[in-house]
Amino acid sequence: MYLLSFHKSVIIAVVSMGMAVSACKFRQKADLIIHHAHIYTANAAFDTATAMVIRDGKIIAIGTDDEILKEYEAEKMISAAGKFLYPGLIDAHGHFVNYGFSLQQVDLSGTKSWQECLDSVANFIKRKNIPAGSWIQGRGWDQNDWTSKEFPNKDSLDKKFPHHPIVLVRIDGHALIANDQALKLARIQPGQSIQGGTVETINGQLTGILIDNAQDLLYAVIPPPTREQYATALKEAAAHCYAMGLTTIVDCGLNKNDVDRIDALQKEGILKMKLNIMLSDDSLNYAYYLKKGPYKTARLNVNGFKLYADGALGSRGACLLQPYSDKPGWQGFLLKDRAYFEKIIPLIYASQFQANTHAIGDSGNRMILQVYAQVLKAKNDRRWRIEHAQVIDTADFGYFGKYSIIPSVQPTHATSDMYWAEQRLGHSRVKGAYAYKQLLDQNGWIPLGTDFPVEDISPFKTFLAAVARQDAQGFPAEGFQFENALSRKETLWGMTLWAAKGSFEEKEKGSLEKSKAADFIILDTDLMRCKSGDILKTKVLATYINGELVFGK
Ligand SMILES: [Zn+2]
Repeated sequence: MYLLSFHKSVIIAVVSMGMAVSACKFRQKADLIIHHAHIYTANAAFDTATAMVIRDGKIIAIGTDDEILKEYEAEKMISAAGKFLYPGLIDAHGHFVNYGFSLQQVDLSGTKSWQECLDSVANFIKRKNIPAGSWIQGRGWDQNDWTSKEFPNKDSLDKKFPHHPIVLVRIDGHALIANDQALKLARIQPGQSIQGGTVETINGQLTGILIDNAQDLLYAVIPPPTREQYATALKEAAAHCYAMGLTTIVDCGLNKNDVDRIDALQKEGILKMKLNIMLSDDSLNYAYYLKKGPYKTARLNVNGFKLYADGALGSRGACLLQPYSDKPGWQGFLLKDRAYFEKIIPLIYASQFQANTHAIGDSGNRMILQVYAQVLKAKNDRRWRIEHAQVIDTADFGYFGKYSIIPSVQPTHATSDMYWAEQRLGHSRVKGAYAYKQLLDQNGWIPLGTDFPVEDISPFKTFLAAVARQDAQGFPAEGFQFENALSRKETLWGMTLWAAKGSFEEKEKGSLEKSKAADFIILDTDLMRCKSGDILKTKVLATYINGELVFGK
């Protein structure tokens, strides 16, 4: 009893002394103070806080309301009213520029039939009043979602749209269908052969389907966007990303032209989004950037090359060690042979750039792991990445840890592919697919992304897929190969600190800590504690980049 009242009086004395001290002391000035927030800093200790101070776009202090409000004052004081604050989300693998242009195209994702695709194209032409002769581009169809699982044929496109060149890209970007107008402009002939690709021909007639490298024949004749079209596409993409809490995107596979245009838009203040660029596997990019070295500004970081080992599992272009379970005798193929990678990878090693290679099949992954290992020789801090690391043979997981090779994965790929992945791979092989926990354990960290616009841009779908291994409908109840789920903490790190680390940026962003960029978001949901069924109901209330509000209020 005595002890309790003694303590009370001591506490009261300390509090009043504290007030007396702070009252006669000048508070430091700042630009913005957020207080009464539930802050997940996502730092290495996964600390929480309630208030944060921002000056000149950087976090200058973070702590409790008492600590912060005593020491700092700002013109702009925002009470978060107990809402949840996180570092700005980073998508470690997306296609931001493509996404921007996809917003200018016919969206065919989720279509239930080829007829529905044709109707969408017709509506698009009508709605945008597109003149005859202008190119129509669409994206997102997936014959696996249709009753008839066959590739479509161009006949119906030719009949319905004789006046526009049309190209409609499959959801994974590894196949497209084009109409006669488009094929004629590209001078594509029946039976034409091309390395690493297929011009589909049946009974001597083009079907309109072009697979993998054959698509380039067509892309070569589509006129490039004007400066204005480019700016519009990127601004629209950024607006959608901010609304989802994304503040940095790693864009996987762009060219010098893109870098120059993005750099200019950012410097003019038109584009606030932070972008990390992986350069496409192209001789012009190598010639220019290997000599010049990485390029970095406040919002742009060009520090990697993106190579492709193989195609995708959906279109059976992924290169497997054994034949596909649903196509006897067919193992897919490498987009370029091993000798090519053995020539390029040492050149990248001799530079400051990261090597990042798309690999889906277990054979594609093994080849890249081995080529990386030959060059890296031991543990290291080059952070070379395998993008997707989708199907890994049991014998090969150890390469990631032994040579510090970073698997860069997209949890929604697991929940998009889970309906048919076992048909392609069979019961035992599918266990080594989408094995994110097993991959995380190799190096103790893993960057997460979406691969948008292949998948939806929503980082909350990524969160749900990673922690519950379920689709948006909560299927399957027990989670798909749940042993490979990540914890909520690991998932948040994967979308923040570890994603930053995947681009050598963990010292400047990815967690809310003193001297890091004030890239943060306010959500209405506690992602660490909510029911998994509530994850997709999350609303982004505000998104800040370098202390500047870019979405919400
Ligand atoms: Zn990708």
